[in-house]
Amino acid sequence: MRLGIDLDGVVANFNAGWMRRYNDEYGTDLKPEMVHSWDAFVPLTRFDTNAEFWEWAQNAGGRGLFRDLPLYPDALESLTRLSGAHKIVIITTKPRWATAETFAWIADNEIPTREVHITRRKWEVDCDVYLDDGPHNLDSLVLERPDRTVCRFIRPWNEPVPGAIDVDSWDIFETLVNGRFS
Ligand SMILES: [Mg+2]
Repeated sequence: MRLGIDLDGVVANFNAGWMRRYNDEYGTDLKPEMVHSWDAFVPLTRFDTNAEFWEWAQNAGGRGLFRDLPLYPDALESLTRLSGAHKIVIITTKPRWATAETFAWIADNEIPTREVHITRRKWEVDCDVYLDDGPHNLDSLVLERPDRTVCRFIRPWNEPVPGAIDVDSWDIFETLVNGRFS
């Protein structure tokens, strides 16, 4: 089966990554647990707009922000096991400037995939199962791919989406995939 896997908020801990950089630069003590909404940058940072955050993210010293994101616990182990019987298809949305560092991150972390799509239109990538945390992505996947399995990785910044299956750990996702498609 083709498993369409999102990166940020699912495999890569984007909040931990940008906060580490932000805390180093500004002497703050932001923690990922402080994020309770999508696009929480404005309330948590000195930036007045999302655009200012992204400008900082692009230019914040040396290697790109997306090159240094930590993995969520269990993500790589689960993906590696799943890749034995299924195809791991990475479907991620990134700013255009982050394209090369996204491929570098995938290589650095040895993500077991042979297919990567960097797109906002995630539903255009044909998969049997999708795993995502983005509210707008979950809505559009359920709408555009009603005959497929769409899984919401439960995070503080998303809510149940009718038609999507809730998953709160990599273990649960792996069990679900293996139960349905073994
Ligand atoms: Mg995401």
